[in-house]
Amino acid sequence: MKHGTDEQKNRYIMPMLSADEIWCQLLSEPEAGSDLANVATRAIKEGDHYIVNGQKIWTSLAHAAKFGILLARTNPDAPKHAGLSYFIVPMDLPGIEITPIVEMTGMHLFNQVFFTDVRLPAENLIGEENRGWELAKDTLANERVTLAREGAQWGWGPSARDLVNLVRERGGVPDPVMRQRLAQLYSEGEILRIHSLRMVADRLAGKPLGPESSTRKALSDPHGQHIFQIARDLSGSAGLLADVGPLGADPMWWANGFLFAPALTIGGGTSEVLRNVIGERILGLPREPDPDAGRAWTETRRTKGAQAK
Ligand SMILES: Cc1cc2nc3c(=O)[nH]c(=O)nc-3n(C[C@H](O)[C@H](O)[C@H](O)COP(=O)(O)OP(=O)(O)OC[C@H]3O[C@@H](n4cnc5c(N)ncnc54)[C@H](O)[C@@H]3O)c2cc1C
Repeated sequence: MKHGTDEQKNRYIMPMLSADEIWCQLLSEPEAGSDLANVATRAIKEGDHYIVNGQKIWTSLAHAAKFGILLARTNPDAPKHAGLSYFIVPMDLPGIEITPIVEMTGMHLFNQVFFTDVRLPAENLIGEENRGWELAKDTLANERVTLAREGAQWGWGPSARDLVNLVRERGGVPDPVMRQRLAQLYSEGEILRIHSLRMVADRLAGKPLGPESSTRKALSDPHGQHIFQIARDLSGSAGLLADVGPLGADPMWWANGFLFAPALTIGGGTSEVLRNVIGERILGLPREPDPDAGRAWTETRRTKGAQAK
């Protein structure tokens, strides 16, 4: 919506919003997660195509996606943030291989995606070549808001309110310590709900999305984990069962959610990295030292080993 041409917007946005066409994010790589600007997947322009080679990992829903957004390196001689470009990739192009990664929940959410001499039409570039980092930052800021909804599990799981209501329906809990934990959980949920309204109001007032998206995610990920920890504790020994504990309801919510919960503070930016953003961009603390600042990506420490191989 922000960086595409009119043709790109007309073609892609509506089917994306209606979910007629599922998309995935081809960002992370084995050596580029928190340090996303270290992406090594190469896109080399040849005539009216880019030739893409490399590997992505943790790509949620790549196996279901019709398109992916790809961050790839178009200029390895520029500093690492300045040589990246942002593309739209039809996931059925020849040379793309998708292999599943099964999580400890037993579900298959994410994948590895390998690119071997994939011919990507040049018109699939979004924005300008080598300016992809700006687009990636916009994507990540928006993702942080989407992931930081009130319900646990990035919005699609139960909320603190759901758990408290369930406990009420079951006649409450006699243990005062557990009651205190539930009250605290409920308060966290309310703070997040009100924070969310404030962010919506800011957007409606036309304010751009800033580093506050990191604050929100830093608060809501541990909150999601608290919901499942308390649900497990309420379940007692039956909480050890993989399917339906005494909390009943949808097993996806409780047993599966408990196993998924560690992922919350990793995906979309880890808690540690979010705290760096809050420290540097909101609190004005000194920036983390960057030994690679100003050096060409090919000259940075982490690529030297890879090139030697
Ligand atoms: C459920 C789930 C879905 C995902 N879906 C996608 C997807 O669709 N597309 C995609 O591209 N990626 C996806 N990811 C990947 C995700 O973005 C990365 O896992 C995440 O950015 C962390 O990168 P990493 O795993 O390489 O960990 P690393 O970056 O290697 O981090 C390892 C540890 O070091 C810490 N650390 C790293 N750097 C710093 C620092 N500067 N200061 C302090 N601590 C630091 C981290 O906090 C972490 O604890 C998904 C991840 C999960 C869990």
